[in-house]
Amino acid sequence: MKSPISDANLEKLAAVSINTGLNLKKGQPLVITAPLNAQPLVRKLTEQAYKAGASLVTTIYTDEADTLARYQYGSDESFDVAPGWLFEGLGKAFTDGAARLAVAASNPMLLAEMDADKVSRANKAQSIAAKPAMQPIVTFQTNWNIISYPHVEWAKLVFPNVSEDEAMQKLADAILKISRVDGPDPVAAWAEHDEALHKRADWLNEQNFSALKYTGPGTDLTLGLADGHKWVGGSKVARNGVRCIANIPTEEVFTTPHKDRVDGTVSATKPLSYNGTLIENISVRFEHGRIVESSATKGESVLKKVLETDEGAARLGEVALVPHSSPISQSGLLFYNTLYDENAACHIALGQCYSECFDNAIKTDPEKVKASGGNESLIHIDWMIGSDKIDIDGIKQDGSTVPVFRKGEWAS
Ligand code: ZN
Ligand code: ZN
Repeated sequence: MKSPISDANLEKLAAVSINTGLNLKKGQPLVITAPLNAQPLVRKLTEQAYKAGASLVTTIYTDEADTLARYQYGSDESFDVAPGWLFEGLGKAFTDGAARLAVAASNPMLLAEMDADKVSRANKAQSIAAKPAMQPIVTFQTNWNIISYPHVEWAKLVFPNVSEDEAMQKLADAILKISRVDGPDPVAAWAEHDEALHKRADWLNEQNFSALKYTGPGTDLTLGLADGHKWVGGSKVARNGVRCIANIPTEEVFTTPHKDRVDGTVSATKPLSYNGTLIENISVRFEHGRIVESSATKGESVLKKVLETDEGAARLGEVALVPHSSPISQSGLLFYNTLYDENAACHIALGQCYSECFDNAIKTDPEKVKASGGNESLIHIDWMIGSDKIDIDGIKQDGSTVPVFRKGEWAS
């Protein structure tokens, strides 16, 4: 398999993922999940992992052709089935101390032409079955990392006006630049970036805002923050004591909104690519934390279906701040990939909250997370509400306000 990324750059990308992202420890087992087309990167990751002292690297590959075969030939009942046994095994691996590395390199439109009902049933069955594997990840019981690799169909979507080869090349270059591995010393670049993210999170934690107020075109939103919320960003120490940077790239500082204290209207500033459907110009109105009105100029029925997934699907589980000057935003590209697009702009997420975004006294107890306003859902879907026209004020516990963002940038 030929790679659109040179050998030297693949090595750099793999080294950043293993050493900075995962911070893999000597003797630690590693589980990699990746699509088949990412094999050139997976081989470099495996090399780097063993060089770092991995005890065993286990890779689980998925193949898009196999996924399509299910839609073409699978029985109707097939769409309610998911490999629970696999996720239980993965959950055990992570709980027992294995690190987890996911390579994201898929065709965002793979299922665009498939029966929407089957897609949503398959996703639901998968989400339910995947809980034992996801739980140790979302609660950071182990160190984990997600990194991207080009995919030809993905490249053609992002760069529609050039040849296939050129699109792949451009996507490869964008991934390297945005993942901050294009410079001479990626490790130092990440250390500096990580420190900047931590400074922002520390400032927000000192302020201890009770809510954020967003104003901009189509947006007038008061977003209450959960009791005992903590802003986090960049690296964090997982519960196994390993400091890791989960997402590469990452530009966000984020925390947990209060599931019952969000009111007003908010409009998306970028389309949301969801399972092969592009949902455009989303606008929603919240009352007491719940979305009571929703519209989109394209993909509205998919949006409404998503909101009906379960009780928590129409409430927020994450709020994130990203300046408009972030490298992804400056690229001006729409990546049709959450890992990239969510790091381009301020965003909110429907659905499940991250328990890591709470005080220590709260985060280890799911009941306390819930009582503090943390939302629960099978879904977690990020969508962008930031632009160079958005102002955000922090509302303090005493009602006074502090500028946080002005015209899409940090106010101070
Ligand atoms: Zn986010
Ligand atoms: Zn998110």
